[in-house]
Amino acid sequence: MTTVNVNFLALRSSYLFVETARKVEAFREANPGKKVISLGIGDVTRPLVPAVIAALRKAVEEMGAAAHFRGYGPEQGYAFLREAIAGHDYRARGLDIDPDEIFVSDGAKCDLGNFQELFSADSIVAVTDPVYPVYVDSNVMAGRAGAYVDGRWQRIVYLPCGKDNDFVPDFPKRRPDVIYLCYPNNPTGTVLSRQALRGWVDYARREGCVILYDSAYEAYIQDEDIPRSIYELEGAREVAVEFRSFSKTAGFTGLRCAYVVIPKDMRVGDGQGGKVALHGLWNRRQCTKYNGCPYIVQRAAEAIYSPEGKKQVLEVIGEYQRNAAQLGAAIRDMGLDVHGGVHAPYIWVSVPGDTDSWGFFDRLLHSAALVCTPGAGFGANGEGYVRLTAFGAPEDTREAIARLRAQC
Ligand code: PLP
Repeated sequence: MTTVNVNFLALRSSYLFVETARKVEAFREANPGKKVISLGIGDVTRPLVPAVIAALRKAVEEMGAAAHFRGYGPEQGYAFLREAIAGHDYRARGLDIDPDEIFVSDGAKCDLGNFQELFSADSIVAVTDPVYPVYVDSNVMAGRAGAYVDGRWQRIVYLPCGKDNDFVPDFPKRRPDVIYLCYPNNPTGTVLSRQALRGWVDYARREGCVILYDSAYEAYIQDEDIPRSIYELEGAREVAVEFRSFSKTAGFTGLRCAYVVIPKDMRVGDGQGGKVALHGLWNRRQCTKYNGCPYIVQRAAEAIYSPEGKKQVLEVIGEYQRNAAQLGAAIRDMGLDVHGGVHAPYIWVSVPGDTDSWGFFDRLLHSAALVCTPGAGFGANGEGYVRLTAFGAPEDTREAIARLRAQC
């Protein structure tokens, strides 16, 4: 009989989202007519900006004309988009990234989930705790995580992040091969200072590790002193791969476009005492397993770099940032500890001592008809917190704030 990849059977079920949905449904049934507002969603709600829609329309027309029709595109992405990314996201900020070092894709989730394929099966992986679950689960599928005992994968190195270390992970006692860092962070909404990120780049260079740097939320950074890209740190080109997405930057969660930056000078061991460039390996992987992000979507992504596209996208991000600031203030007025929410669309709230994250979830649902995400779902260290998101429509966020204020 055929046998499955048994690593898939080791995966934990997504108890968090199943259980929150069940509780919300039960509340709705018991309270018909009561409007439930979700502050739990990790998806944008504002429509695509006009510059993106215009670019989509134009690209659709091109695809309908024999003279302009395009079939398979380059697996790495069209040159027009890679050049726009290199120019606007990197070179304009003084960062030396070549268009050839950029690989366009249909999402950072798949890039982050797939990238681990490039590392040996016995590599040790480090993640922060709490964490965006994709990093862990994709390594579980690859058989790299070991046994699951007491809420922890035995071969994964956890880097706890909490109030005691100001959400800045300490270097692990055991040297990992691959370190996933996500800043601005999902779920905590916190950021790393330049000095803290420099520490991690230096650590990776010293110890011979690779950093997989997820900066899907860099567009939310409001302070020039906080690094938007890991390549702002000297030496990062030798140790870091950067993942970015148009999802939360420009509302592309449904359209799908993202990219990975792999510097050509980044090398890892070849298992025989020599070194090999990760860039060439990812190129080979993509050419084998991927046929490129759609032309019309890449034209839409290019449009966010035009002067009007930039302006329109910034307005939408500003709206989410205002939601986050107002939500954070309302929660603080409830006497609770609030983290994140300034350089990120996520607010990480310490729940009061007399309850846990599920208890606080129940309290918000039953007293204010508001839905949050219990922090325990993002890792053992997420217990004691809930995550709120600022992606709601402004009117829903205002109503949520009014309900929160009524609780004070
Ligand atoms: N990285 C982080 C930290 C995220 O929170 C998300 C989406 O929620 C992604 C990556 C995925 O982005 P994409 O929509 O490009 O797949």
